[in-house]
Amino acid sequence: MKNYQKIITKIYNDLKNIDDTGKIANYIPELANVDDTNFGIHITTIDRNFFGIGDSKKKFSIQSISKILTLTLAYQLEGEKLWKRVDVEPSGNPFNSLLQLESDLGIPRNPFINAGAIVVCDVLISHLKNPKEDFLNFCRILSKNPDLNYSEKVAQSEKSSGYRNIALCNFIKSFGNIKNDIDVVLDFYFYTCALEMTCKEVSEIFLFLADDNFTNQEGNRVLTMSQAKRINAILLTCGFYDESGEFAFRVGLPGKSGVGGGIVAIHPDEFCITVWSPKLNKKGNSYKGMLFLEQFTTETESSIF
Ligand code: GLU
Repeated sequence: MKNYQKIITKIYNDLKNIDDTGKIANYIPELANVDDTNFGIHITTIDRNFFGIGDSKKKFSIQSISKILTLTLAYQLEGEKLWKRVDVEPSGNPFNSLLQLESDLGIPRNPFINAGAIVVCDVLISHLKNPKEDFLNFCRILSKNPDLNYSEKVAQSEKSSGYRNIALCNFIKSFGNIKNDIDVVLDFYFYTCALEMTCKEVSEIFLFLADDNFTNQEGNRVLTMSQAKRINAILLTCGFYDESGEFAFRVGLPGKSGVGGGIVAIHPDEFCITVWSPKLNKKGNSYKGMLFLEQFTTETESSIF
């Protein structure tokens, strides 16, 4: 096996003190209270070897990384019908854009932009008795980790400043692609974004996308192999907003970022890696996270291409 600890330590030291031109997200007030010098990395291999450095065991707001989890549960519950409600095309637009919804008649381009994730939340609400509790429970069983939780503060902060998401939800509802009450859908969406995890926890919860033999705490498969392959495909093409092409070009792995500064990347059949550094580039992706992963896949020759 490659000496991952040595490799991540070297890249961490190379990047730790560089001039980070990114900016912390402040449109959700609570996110701006995070120390922007945090920098953590964690790798979990499918053989359950663990490698971490820096702030890899500090909780952070995973934000849009949770869109993979809501999608996974919705795919499990709804099956292929899900793709009638949300498409699988890259949007080439910012994560919170309303633009394409008008011409696309309220069908979001993909589940990893806000519009798509809001529709996925609506699908989940139609299936779950207590959406917030049931979804959290799904995450805990998936990761075999009872410590996972929402940040109440982040959820409330996002609720009080979520103007674009409120607009998106109303706009989609006007096309009939939101079936439940707007306030219930938004409340659930804001909580899912407010999940908190460490880099270590993130790299463990997404092992099901790397390990074909993965089973959850109850010994069940989470998705079929074909479904997991499809989620990886959407991650590769749509996981980084309008910088998805750039991420595939520079890093070459399926992955997902969040405006809390986290990025998770998956190497099918090998590992899951998470980087957290809160300052974001202009497209909303962690500035250092992108640099780290680019250097990492170059040094380990682990791009999937
Ligand atoms: N909660 C954020 C929002 O809805 C998620 C954005 C992100 O991480 O891409 O604006």
